Amino acid sequence: LFAGESTFVKGVVAMSGLPDADRMEVCFAGRSNVGKSSLINALTGTKGLARASNTPGRTQEINYFTQGPELYLVDLPGYGYANAPLPVVEKWQRLLKQYLSGRQTLRRAFVLIDSRHGIKKVDAEIMKLLDSSAVTFQVVMTKADKVKEKDRAAVLSQVREALSKHPAAYPEIVLTSSEKGDGIPTLRAIIAGLE
Ligand code: GDP
Repeated sequence: LFAGESTFVKGVVAMSGLPDADRMEVCFAGRSNVGKSSLINALTGTKGLARASNTPGRTQEINYFTQGPELYLVDLPGYGYANAPLPVVEKWQRLLKQYLSGRQTLRRAFVLIDSRHGIKKVDAEIMKLLDSSAVTFQVVMTKADKVKEKDRAAVLSQVREALSKHPAAYPEIVLTSSEKGDGIPTLRAIIAGLE
């Protein structure tokens, strides 16, 4: 599944703009700066791919990337943008809800959590939204290389504790470092296993 090339397809601002649901897809959510672009680049092995979604104006869009002919990787930016004007935030949240509850080919959401910081309020909010949309989600810890082995356990137990309260949570947590490559093959295998 990960042998093929990756390209940026489009940024979607309304349900009508979604590409044809002709293959499976997984989506990625996380606070800004969590390492989402880096993770998508590492997964696809394509440097600079997901930078497009970080540029101003792209932050309220659902960004589609191909991974070979059989998979879409979907970047859900836009949460943790507390500074955006309320109507913008509301429009974004509406789209996000519609997407999560309406996309038949969405197999799993990956919620990215910084290994240093654990779950914050906005993360808990997105998890609630995933619960109510009945989208199975799995936590991916990012920047694992920045945390010492002995500090990791505390953050992980905070995350496990939080996950136990979310019916849509998949229990297995994936530790990754896009910088070192740790966990990237594991995450690819998990996605490939969703076929
Ligand atoms: P995004 O805003 O979630 O897309 O985050 P980025 O992917 O742009 O990453 C934010 C910052 O964290 C950048 O400076 C990255 O170089 C850094 N970063 C991302 N992933 C890792 C990682 O695995 N290890 C380390 N040490 N830094 C990372």
